[in-house]
Amino acid sequence: MVVQKFKDMLSGKSVIRQLSEFATKRGEEIGYENVFDYSLGNPSVPVPQEFTDRMIHMLATQNPMALHGYSPSLGITSVREAIANSLSERFGVPYKTEHIFMASGAAGAIAHAVRLVCEPGDEVLTFAPYFPEYNPYINHSGAVLKIVPPRFEDFQINFEAFEEMLNEKTMAVLINTPNNPSGIVYSKETIQRLADTLRRKQEEYGHEIFIISDEPYREIVFEGVECPCVSAYYENSIMCYSFSKSLSLPGERIGYVAINPAAKDADILATMCGQISRGIGHNCPPSIIQLAVAQVLDKTADLSVYETNMNLIYNCLMELGFTCVKPGGTFYIFPKALEEDAKVFCEKALKYDLVLVPADSFGAPGYFRMAYCIDTEKVERSLVALRKFVENEYGTPAENQAP
Ligand code: PLP
Repeated sequence: MVVQKFKDMLSGKSVIRQLSEFATKRGEEIGYENVFDYSLGNPSVPVPQEFTDRMIHMLATQNPMALHGYSPSLGITSVREAIANSLSERFGVPYKTEHIFMASGAAGAIAHAVRLVCEPGDEVLTFAPYFPEYNPYINHSGAVLKIVPPRFEDFQINFEAFEEMLNEKTMAVLINTPNNPSGIVYSKETIQRLADTLRRKQEEYGHEIFIISDEPYREIVFEGVECPCVSAYYENSIMCYSFSKSLSLPGERIGYVAINPAAKDADILATMCGQISRGIGHNCPPSIIQLAVAQVLDKTADLSVYETNMNLIYNCLMELGFTCVKPGGTFYIFPKALEEDAKVFCEKALKYDLVLVPADSFGAPGYFRMAYCIDTEKVERSLVALRKFVENEYGTPAENQAP
């Protein structure tokens, strides 16, 4: 029998993917350079040259059996050790090799983290706006994802709604800072209050509530913004990291789980991930990519273009009268649409070859996301189209200003 659940999912195709397919098709008609595709979060800058050089050097000089052989299921020990040392030094949290588990990107890391701390039927809370792929990541484990509504004024945590939704079945809280789709970085105050709330609730319910901290954008933080390390604030925390965005390596599928050394059962949780891998088929991440990232742990791709793009877009949105919280990091911006239904708004934008993503599936209807991981030259041209779109469809900028 073919499983109906997955058949049903085929009709719920991701709106981001649909829009990206539209952009590709339209590109074939008018030239891809003329389609202002803000749909996909695919990094637009190359991997650091040093990474490529190290890969070439390894391929030219090292034993192919070691480079292409199976990795131990928890990851290559020297790589885990290098990551633990780098994290300890950077964040002052005393990670050791036994706290690190290598995974296939943040997606793989979250899939393991949720299975570590949730039984089927347990609840995981996350905060809107949120990354829609959290639904399959969490729900396929048998746990149930619940969405805390947004705090629209700054997209920090809506603590009133959060406290109402916390209950005895809550075993984990999944957070993402810097955030996809809002671009917001949670402040120290937000993280501290989250930690205090959860400590109080752990006491009340008599069980741990873990923070699963999804951190693929940790290195993409803009000038003057501080991105607090969640693990330094809360013991029962599991960091899920990915090199996809920091090193521009999404296709290589590499990241890790880092268990807070002060967490309950900290010394065995990463080893337990190895058992989870056996069941979900994500065992033994690629050996050569692990070895290569371990050599560039303190490097990133040149991420500066994202801040340049953000400033150009944010300033233009402000001039045009949009409501928008200024991003502190990532390569996303999350303005309010100029009409109630963001799907209609984004549909109209397509006439101007602007591919914007309505945010209904991010838990914030009425908003839309722009993934500005594209060339700055294209951003500049897209802003001409954006002005034309807004002026033709919604009137002059002054008319868009909230009363
Ligand atoms: N979490 C968030 C918030 C993301 O935006 C993404 C990818 O875009 C992921 C997780 C998955 O990352 P990876 O490609 O490293 O699995």
